[in-house]
Amino acid sequence: MSIILSQHIDKPSNYDDIPFQIYHYPKRYRNQIKIGDSFIYYQGDRHKKKNRYYYGCGIISGISPSFDSDSYYATISNSIRFNPIVPIYHPEGGFFESKGYNDVRNRINPAWQNAIRKVSNKAFDEILTHAGLSNRLFLDLIEVHHLLSEENSPKIKPILSNFNEIEIERLLEEEYSEDDLLSVLINLNSKAHLLEKKAIVKRRVANQKVTKILKKLYNNSCQLCGVNHRNTYGADVVEAHHIEYFSLTQNHEPNNIIILCPNHHRLIHCAKATFERNEKVFIYDNGHKEALLYNKHI
Ligand SMILES: [Zn+2]
Ligand SMILES: [Zn+2]
Repeated sequence: MSIILSQHIDKPSNYDDIPFQIYHYPKRYRNQIKIGDSFIYYQGDRHKKKNRYYYGCGIISGISPSFDSDSYYATISNSIRFNPIVPIYHPEGGFFESKGYNDVRNRINPAWQNAIRKVSNKAFDEILTHAGLSNRLFLDLIEVHHLLSEENSPKIKPILSNFNEIEIERLLEEEYSEDDLLSVLINLNSKAHLLEKKAIVKRRVANQKVTKILKKLYNNSCQLCGVNHRNTYGADVVEAHHIEYFSLTQNHEPNNIIILCPNHHRLIHCAKATFERNEKVFIYDNGHKEALLYNKHI
């Protein structure tokens, strides 16, 4: 099911939320939200109309009650931050959430006061489209979510420690067959359990899907310099860079990945650049700063 989650991001919340990671909600909403639900984040504002907008989406991956069972925590996976954000007013008049409303409620206007509320598929798709994302992209993210929720995640860090980060990123991305990848891993670390090696193969499939989605989102352009080799040479060479190193976190969620041309990707690793999320800039070891030229998801 598709739902709206209300959450302020322009001022502190009274709940223990971490936007794009954890949603904390009171017990009375417990029947309104389920594992596997797709959601869109909404920010309300009683006073300022222009502060009412949608700003991200994701999938509910887990739910657990608080210690006293008075509230619940939902964990979020595969989240994407909208860029641009989408005001609640539909360009053709009325509200986005009024589209297809009779699939989910009787009244045309949404119950704004409800922190968690159902939204029709039509409204959900239209909000995504206005955020520059496609419904197809969201379905791909759901597929990634299912792929990973089937596995019971054995630890794969010890095997990965044989590689440096850029090698791991290549390994994740390149078109080795599963058997080739397994034999590379077995040669490198004969002691590692087969299950752990299989886990890497599975993560690689998920990672490749996310990368494919993001490359499509940027039409194979580098997010830093905008270069598009496909238009000039007819070949795709952009690569996925992990903001928090995959070797350390195994985090291949979209908000951990930036699409880069091979030059920028090499520079970022060789010149030890770190990404500053608030300003959306890379800061190189010598102090040079470089801002993202294109950003539709971080
Ligand atoms: Zn570049
Ligand atoms: Zn990288």
